[in-house]
Amino acid sequence: MENIYDLIIIGAGPAGLSAGIYASRAKLSTLILEKDKTGGQIVTTDEVANYPGSVENPTGPSIVARMVKQAEEFGALRKKDPVLEVDFTGKIKIVRCKKNEYQGRSVIIASGAKPRRIGCQGEVELTGKGVSYCATCDGDFFTDFEVFVIGGGDSAVEEAIYLTKYARKVTVVHRRDELRAAKSIQEKAFKNKKIEFLWDTTVEEIKGKDIVESIVFKNKKTGEITEYKAQEEDGTFGVFPFVGYEPMSHIYKDIIQLDEKGYIITDEKMRTNIDGVFAVGDIRVKDLRQVITAAADGAIGAVQAEKYIDNLYPILEREVV
Ligand code: NAP
Repeated sequence: MENIYDLIIIGAGPAGLSAGIYASRAKLSTLILEKDKTGGQIVTTDEVANYPGSVENPTGPSIVARMVKQAEEFGALRKKDPVLEVDFTGKIKIVRCKKNEYQGRSVIIASGAKPRRIGCQGEVELTGKGVSYCATCDGDFFTDFEVFVIGGGDSAVEEAIYLTKYARKVTVVHRRDELRAAKSIQEKAFKNKKIEFLWDTTVEEIKGKDIVESIVFKNKKTGEITEYKAQEEDGTFGVFPFVGYEPMSHIYKDIIQLDEKGYIITDEKMRTNIDGVFAVGDIRVKDLRQVITAAADGAIGAVQAEKYIDNLYPILEREVV
């Protein structure tokens, strides 16, 4: 049979790249399929302070660049080809992409998660016109402007701190009166003079013709509705929602067992309910979604994939691609 990879990895964030490093080092013929850009969510992060052993002041892109180099040096092949559908019914797994169809003896799903939307009126229409989900990419546009960050978790508070590099004022809008973010991150934010907090508040609507012009808030305790309009001299301001993430698992619905939020259910060996199909990183049900846990998942998944195909296919029977 032609062109059958030992392992196809779907996704090239830290989980997929780590799986690629371990699998190709174990001499599995490994294909890593990427969507549009390599690296996943971490490439939108300017500072990664808690990845153990990294060089001084690592950024998301710098960590990803080193992972890519390692995977390629061990022989992993990378292709940009978005996955459209999969057929996992046979012993050989089929992955249908926009440009080509690929066959693998095993598959690791590492497609991660994407930012969740607030779900208010105007959010979709004004994305890219003042509404942004990436502070590293778009923070600079708001130099000396005002910015609203929506959410109260680690991402919202960390990105609010980051945005103070550019914006003259950052208001964190949170739906409760207490942040969810880690205490160490909260402390930094409370000390930052450019950051203010709007508690017990949700966003009802973001308004503007071609650019964000105003935002409508609702106080959850009093029910009061207020509209904040851009200062006349500014004409606009930034809105950065960081209200969590949702798994990129829609193509696996009805194929693989998911939980009620759409995350792939695995055991601790990263095995899904389908033989030879593993899931690693943010797409799977887990407690802690971090670069280090994604990388760890990738390593475990690759070792398990290796064991799986070694059991099913003696090495001499395998076709090298
Ligand atoms: P998260 O922890 O799920 O927090 C989401 C925040 O958004 C919560 O404060 C939540 O409010 C709020 N929220 C959710 N839906 C909302 C809506 N529709 N409207 C308004 N607010 C809404 O998400 P995250 O901050 O993106 O973090 C995701 C994971 O990555 C976490 O495990 C986090 O620890 C990790 N992370 C870690 C670091 C780090 O260690 N440096 C950095 C970034 C992320 P409630 O609090 O009321 O639920």
